[in-house]
Amino acid sequence: MSEAVIDQAVTLRGVGRQYGRGDGQVTALDDVHCAFARGTCTAVMGPSGSGKSTLLQCAAGLDRPSTGQVLIGQTDINTLNETELTKLRRERIGFIFQSFNLMPSLNARKNVALPMRLAGRRPGRGQVDEVLQQVGLGDRGKHRPAEMSGGQQQRVAIARALISQPDVLFADEPTGALDTNTSREVLKLLRALVDNAGQTVVMVTHDPVAAAWADRVIFLTDGAIYGELASPTVEAVSEQMARLGG
Ligand code: ADP
Ligand code: MG
Repeated sequence: MSEAVIDQAVTLRGVGRQYGRGDGQVTALDDVHCAFARGTCTAVMGPSGSGKSTLLQCAAGLDRPSTGQVLIGQTDINTLNETELTKLRRERIGFIFQSFNLMPSLNARKNVALPMRLAGRRPGRGQVDEVLQQVGLGDRGKHRPAEMSGGQQQRVAIARALISQPDVLFADEPTGALDTNTSREVLKLLRALVDNAGQTVVMVTHDPVAAAWADRVIFLTDGAIYGELASPTVEAVSEQMARLGG
């Protein structure tokens, strides 16, 4: 029986990533095996420099591993050329960043529509409204980023990621720039997307409180998986991080 029995949104098989050459070479990831099941939320934790962002970038097809395989659903991204990989990223992957990365001159509606426009398509007005409503910003379409709170801006970024109905939503420290209350707002939204819409979410975080919203936590150290925790609690995650020196 193949592993396809479990519906994995993303699978990493023996993924390694080296940067640089010779004496200056850094191994950011070393033989990482893991998978993210559809409709679940996974947190990725580990000390600074442990390879979390590299793992996310490789899993999202934003970076190519030096060794090993990344599968998005059943598609091995090694078999794709640049054009095909760009298409896969546009259509099947959502990515959000700590710093939101919104266009300051565009209102929320135009920011959300931008990826589709860049792909040469015009989103229906209803489509943009729908994702804005989904993130609780149905009445903020005309606001520019500077007219919104950090939490609202991150929710616009989430709406922008959702417009293509991606198979998986990656988030690199999505609450890293937010205070406790707005973090909670964003985490609640990510959780609701998983629970109500069957979205797959993989998020890097430093914060045990954020990680406790996930179904599972993967711990990285020195570019390798150190262990994982199912149904994480804040206490269990904190304990594990203290052990890792993170
Ligand atoms: P984390 O997100 O856990 O802080 P990263 O994945 O950013 O860790 O980095 C893992 C390691 O790879 C670090 O030692 C970092 O300095 C190195 N690294 C990351 N990106 C690059 C790059 N583009 N060039 C050289 N080294 C890099
Ligand atoms: Mg990082």
